[in-house]
Amino acid sequence: MFSATQIGIDLGTANLLVYTKEKGMILNEPSVVALDANTRQVLAVGEEAKMMVGKTPGNIVALRPMKDGVIADYDVTTELIKHLMKKAAKQLGTSLRKPNVVVCTPCGATSVEKRAIQDAVRQCGAKSVQLIEEPVAAAIGADLPVDEPVANVVVDIGGGTTEVAIISFGGVVSSHSLRIGGDRLDEDITQYIRKKYHLMIGSRTAENLKVDIGWALLDHNEETMEIRGRDLVTGLPKTIEVTSTEIQEAYREALLSILETIKATLEDCPPELSGDIVDRGVMLTGGGALLKGMKDWLADEILVPVHLAPSPLESVAIGTGRSLTMLKKLQSAN
Ligand code: ADP
Ligand code: MG
Repeated sequence: MFSATQIGIDLGTANLLVYTKEKGMILNEPSVVALDANTRQVLAVGEEAKMMVGKTPGNIVALRPMKDGVIADYDVTTELIKHLMKKAAKQLGTSLRKPNVVVCTPCGATSVEKRAIQDAVRQCGAKSVQLIEEPVAAAIGADLPVDEPVANVVVDIGGGTTEVAIISFGGVVSSHSLRIGGDRLDEDITQYIRKKYHLMIGSRTAENLKVDIGWALLDHNEETMEIRGRDLVTGLPKTIEVTSTEIQEAYREALLSILETIKATLEDCPPELSGDIVDRGVMLTGGGALLKGMKDWLADEILVPVHLAPSPLESVAIGTGRSLTMLKKLQSAN
């Protein structure tokens, strides 16, 4: 089905990406599936399905099967993989068959779920399917020297989770995972607007607010944005204006939890590696790392250098695609 020898898949809670060394990123779609509520038949996946979220009639449901970092529904997850793999294969043509695939699964997936994912990928025509730990993939994708005996700290803020890990010599020395990521920020914004303005807004509006005027730093040049929703008192559509300060207030607690998780991981660091962290700092990846001011805010709080990965939304997929050579090297070294 595929025409490349080595393929990396990032099965993210928010986005599914497919990367090959030869052709680069060949697929990047939201991890969303639209189903017929009665027959469970898949009606759409990816971008097309995301467009339907919150807008479908009763008999259609659009859902994210891995939303919180665990696989809530693995039949649907497998369908998502199969449909998107078909799409990816079309991009590639058919000159080379039977690729070796490396998949990065959500951190909360159980071993049974991981096996189900491997099976689904194998059924799409893969010769071999290996799994890789997300922080290791993120670090490789962000060009960190993970195979050297130095501390590489990766903070990956995804949709459903935040993963913080210290990697040295190809392995995870210490890591923490938090069930809070970009989605929680969206939910906090929705709650805040509902409480303060009695206005119900959709999840896409909340995400737009976060991406357009959301800041991690308290101290920023205030911005405003007009939004529409349903007035909970009159039941009618209404437009209001909100400020970036309000948005920041809405998700401040969630940001502080992310900060605490980073601090806890750094505190766990073996003393021999602490010196490296002071010098080399922390690498931010994942879509949440793109929140305005995130890098500077974290640097102020943890007092070590903070770097933003070259393309935070793609680090894991790139690292997964590049990892086969690295995995072989590490396996032979260990
Ligand atoms: P996952 O790996 O879980 O699929 P991603 O790394 O793809 O997650 O990140 C998705 C999250 O990043 C979403 O919550 C999305 O709203 C958020 N995000 C994407 N771009 C931005 C941005 N520019 N500012 C803030 N958050 C962003
Ligand atoms: Mg991810």
